[in-house]
Amino acid sequence: MTDKNNNAETRKTNASNWSPATQMVHSGVSRSQFGETSEAMFLTQGFIYDSAEAAEARFKGEDAGFIYSRYANPTVDMFEQRMCALEGAEDARATASGMAAVSSALLCQVKAGDHVVAARALFGSCRWVVETLMPQYGVETTLIDGTDLENWQRAVRPNTKVFFLESPTNPTLEVIDIAGVADIADSIGAKLVVDNVFATPLYQKPLELGAHIVVYSATKHIDGQGRCLGGIVLSTKEWIEESLHDFFRHTGPSLSPFNAWTLLKGLETLPVRVRQQTESARKIADFLAEQSAVKRVIYPGRADHPQADLVQKQMSGGSTLIAMEIEGGKRAAFDFENALDIIQISNNLGDAKSLVTHPSTTTHKNLAEEARAELGITDATVRLSIGLEDTDDLIADIDRALTAI
Ligand SMILES: *Cc1c(COP(=O)(O)O)cnc(C)c1O
Repeated sequence: MTDKNNNAETRKTNASNWSPATQMVHSGVSRSQFGETSEAMFLTQGFIYDSAEAAEARFKGEDAGFIYSRYANPTVDMFEQRMCALEGAEDARATASGMAAVSSALLCQVKAGDHVVAARALFGSCRWVVETLMPQYGVETTLIDGTDLENWQRAVRPNTKVFFLESPTNPTLEVIDIAGVADIADSIGAKLVVDNVFATPLYQKPLELGAHIVVYSATKHIDGQGRCLGGIVLSTKEWIEESLHDFFRHTGPSLSPFNAWTLLKGLETLPVRVRQQTESARKIADFLAEQSAVKRVIYPGRADHPQADLVQKQMSGGSTLIAMEIEGGKRAAFDFENALDIIQISNNLGDAKSLVTHPSTTTHKNLAEEARAELGITDATVRLSIGLEDTDDLIADIDRALTAI
């Protein structure tokens, strides 16, 4: 990168043999002349040059350094470097939200006449980008049931350029065979973009499984404390420079340095938080499976998950999320939500606070009834995002709310 500060200090704080917990505290740190312990927050739009010649050299790319915070900023750069270390990616661009990451990663690499294949079980706004926005610009799109590899192969056309999927999916926690889809993408020279939000960067490594680009909403587990929006696109240096670089600089989805700093602090505690939240979620899923008021529990990591073998193969941990179907439909689901004391009703996820969502009336209300049915979302579907509260307190809250319906 010509417009980034690739100094010796940054390289010294990126050891590839570190475990994630160590990386998340130290990777990417670039200290100022003051030697601060905590990462500095560079709330600056621009940068000054010692001379007109220095400015010329910077713009020509002969001198490494920052030019303008829409392109790159020291605090944002630290967040990108730390995420690269965790993901095993060569390069990244941090964005203002998860949707800025998804839309940039998809739109930067297609033109009118190209074709995109996506798994239909997508986060609502991702589905809108694929189904509604891209066709407005002449990009053909096909949505498929991504859990069957043959559907990917069948959807391929001569002009297919991009595959896009999310795994596990929201809200029904279906799992898609990333390595299998990546093989098909490679066989036709297409790029596979994986939205890895639900798995977290700790439990699933799409790049190692063969995906070409990984995107995150950092708003979820990476912040993890409900404070700010953010996102990131990670890939090879070549793809970032050739496909994303110009799109990113000129359309301006950049992350604010303040939010980058907040997300850096979030990363420091990510492994501890996600491990604890997953441990709690697993216990709660097991508890729910025993309750007569619960028709069905879907939890990656339980032996009764419909794709338990695939979960085992491509994920190294379970999930902080649980999907379930309550006996008694919408009324019972609403009564359950309303009876909870500790667990709050919200559409966010990955937060320190446990949250409950009724997808069919909130996050997925814009889908047609049949589209919801295809995804397995019914009026009885409830999604739980497990936070950092005491597990027994959460189980007691759920137990009481189930008894109340
Ligand atoms: C939340 C989310 C997004 C969008 O992220 P924002 O930060 O809200 O823009 C995209 N994909 C998935 C899977 C998400 O959960």
